[in-house]
Amino acid sequence: MPDGELTCLRCLEERPKEELDRLLWCEECVERAKRRASRIGWGSGAVIALLVGLYIWFVVQPDLSLIPALWGATLAVAFYLGGRVAREIAIGVMRLRNRRAVEARPPEAPPASDTG
Ligand SMILES: [Zn+2]
Repeated sequence: MPDGELTCLRCLEERPKEELDRLLWCEECVERAKRRASRIGWGSGAVIALLVGLYIWFVVQPDLSLIPALWGATLAVAFYLGGRVAREIAIGVMRLRNRRAVEARPPEAPPASDTG
């Protein structure tokens, strides 16, 4: 391994030091984690908006003839904020667990020990 290269913890590929962050994730793996978290986030946002919608519909029972735009905006905000929060949580969990080699392709041969 040339000087200045480190192994990414997620995909186990060797990368220049500057491309790895403090958890030893390469930029690609960070991007992948963010994309995955985004999907989780939007899904959660949709669920949250649905719950808020049900709550408004059955509990608040608004007069929809008055200001429907306001209720629509409330749902949009619930979707957006819920999605953002869920996304941050998803990233946080992935960073916290920091499972090794989750992005790695299955090795064809047992990896050589790099204790030397
Ligand atoms: Zn990587």
